[in-house]
Amino acid sequence: MDHAQTNAVYTASADFIAQAHVDAAGYERMYAASVADPEAFWGEQGKRLDWIKPYTKVKNTSFRPGEVSIKWFEDGTLNIAWNCIDRHLATRAKQTAIIWEPDDPNAPAQHISYQELHDQVCRMANVLVSQGVRKGDRVVMYLPMIPEAAYAMLACARIGAIHSVVFAGFSPDALANRINDCQAKVVITADTAPRGGRRTPLKSNTDAALLHCSDRVRCLVVKHTGDQIHWMDGRDVDVKELMRHASPDCPIEEVNAEDPLFILYTSGSTGKPKGVVHTSGGYLTYAAMTHQMTFDYHDGDVFWCTADVGWVTGHSYIVYGPLANGATTLMFEGVPTYPDAGRFWAVCEKHKVNQFYTAPTAIRSLMGLGPEWVEKYDLSSLKLLGSVGEPINPEAWSWYNTHVGKGRCPIVDTFWQTETGGHMITPLPGATPVKPGAASKPFFGVKPVILDPTDGHELHETATEGVLCIADSWPGQMRTLWGDHERFEEAYFSQYKGYYFTGDGCRRDADGYYWVTGRVDDVINVSGHRMGTAEVESALVAHAQVAEAAVVGYPHDIKGQGIYAYVTLMNGVQPTEELRKDLVKWVRTEIGPIASPDVIQWAPGLPKTRSGKIMRRILRKIAENDFGSLGDTTTLADPSVVDDLIANRKNRG
Ligand code: ATP
Ligand code: MG
Repeated sequence: MDHAQTNAVYTASADFIAQAHVDAAGYERMYAASVADPEAFWGEQGKRLDWIKPYTKVKNTSFRPGEVSIKWFEDGTLNIAWNCIDRHLATRAKQTAIIWEPDDPNAPAQHISYQELHDQVCRMANVLVSQGVRKGDRVVMYLPMIPEAAYAMLACARIGAIHSVVFAGFSPDALANRINDCQAKVVITADTAPRGGRRTPLKSNTDAALLHCSDRVRCLVVKHTGDQIHWMDGRDVDVKELMRHASPDCPIEEVNAEDPLFILYTSGSTGKPKGVVHTSGGYLTYAAMTHQMTFDYHDGDVFWCTADVGWVTGHSYIVYGPLANGATTLMFEGVPTYPDAGRFWAVCEKHKVNQFYTAPTAIRSLMGLGPEWVEKYDLSSLKLLGSVGEPINPEAWSWYNTHVGKGRCPIVDTFWQTETGGHMITPLPGATPVKPGAASKPFFGVKPVILDPTDGHELHETATEGVLCIADSWPGQMRTLWGDHERFEEAYFSQYKGYYFTGDGCRRDADGYYWVTGRVDDVINVSGHRMGTAEVESALVAHAQVAEAAVVGYPHDIKGQGIYAYVTLMNGVQPTEELRKDLVKWVRTEIGPIASPDVIQWAPGLPKTRSGKIMRRILRKIAENDFGSLGDTTTLADPSVVDDLIANRKNRG
């Protein structure tokens, strides 16, 4: 890794800055105003939405232990589907709202106009009503990335029902847990989900899940592929059939700004998933504003977020943010490597994508397959690239910048969480010069603080390092955990009193840039030196023969904690003792002797959540030789990799 390059600063071109919504001076001015007087700032921003009864109160929030309460626009009423669809019809009825790109590259894409979106959402809403769904009821969705997923979310919003989308890669057990936790009245699924040319049997998974749920739960089935499925009369309902006969009009339900819009379970990389609750007015204001500002979205642009709607990224940046802004949003059913490693770029070329938003894990996996897959396509429509999900390592950043962005697209590295509803720390492309690997600056209204992890006092120096907390509420913040406000306070407000605790470690540099270093649990203390495991991982991944790496601490007699590294090698590279020594030496020169790994275990695969995040808590257990108690593993993408790691563990003491 070339350190000069890592410390480099990239500024957008003068042309980009000239057309951007916000420039550097604008950011400074608006940010200062947003934190000086949140009432005035958000009172103004709330006007992005159409209100049925306008709010007179803007902010009513408290982070005080024992009485945490978060309310925005609390006396206003509105409808979320109206804001995402109906209000655009006067000017955008024929404009494409959703471009749907199917898994099979030879099947036709769909262009769904705002008018069609309106009609389909109304039909779906009428179907839900016919199945007894009313305001406040919960509807679980377990669907492929198909337009019906967006229709169903917006149909719930239209009638005031609360949706909970469960990623289609989850097991029947995980689905049953979520249906039961939120006591859903209805689950919407599909026959099968094509992904990468294979089919996931969603309906049969749902059948298995429903064995563990109340027999009153109705099962609405979207016949998507036409694959053979088991059918249970009286419980199962053919959604498309009912939609065909339903009216394309459905009145909107008036909801309060603080009525729940959805529940979403976190990805579970640190433990049992939490049922994060988002409400209506504040969430949509925040999703819309961040979508417009962070991606510098302009009318007519085609926006593509590659996340699944099963994650919050899909909620805020495939569905709610873009549609609230009257945008054209792309929804992709497939995977980046099918039919080959050029698929993302083929889709960008085909639909002339302007903003492209993905995760470092996808970039790293494509990077390993070579730049020739990117070079084949015309990516001249791209104006901006985004990253989300974990810190982006410099190798991946520079590959993304060079091969995808051709050095001319600003890259926004957006730090946020399921809990935050939208971006928290992110560059604004026309305003913030970018440093690779830094989420950089707070979004409007966000007050990040860095606390000393030992006693929780606020570290005021500009350049400092500690745990990342947020000092005051913002409209997109989660309101509670479904059915468990106590756990909500306990998880986010008890450790550092008066603050929202993100769970992440963070460094702030002399320019006031924030560098999220990973979970606090992932900070290790080697002979009194604290360091984030991400730094060691970055160094390992920078080695030409390493594809992926995960680093954890384990008890060490002399150093307190030792460094245990799991390393996946590039295709075809042989794991040898010589290479092991070379890697240790490499890390010593990249970071320093203090960071040299004590143990390197070759890992054919790493345990990841279905959203592609490494589950370090499992790797920690294995490194500690305590693999009897791995905890909740229901969100693992491939449980078999764990068995291999246990069998070949290096610490058997
Ligand atoms: P759980 O909360 O169940 O353990 P999770 O935290 O992985 O799951 P998410 O809400 O999907 O669930 O992820 C949020 C976390 O992802 C953040 O707390 C942070 O650790 C990481 N993250 C997201 N974006 C970035 C980014 N741009 N830079 C650094 N870290 C990021
Ligand atoms: Mg989390």
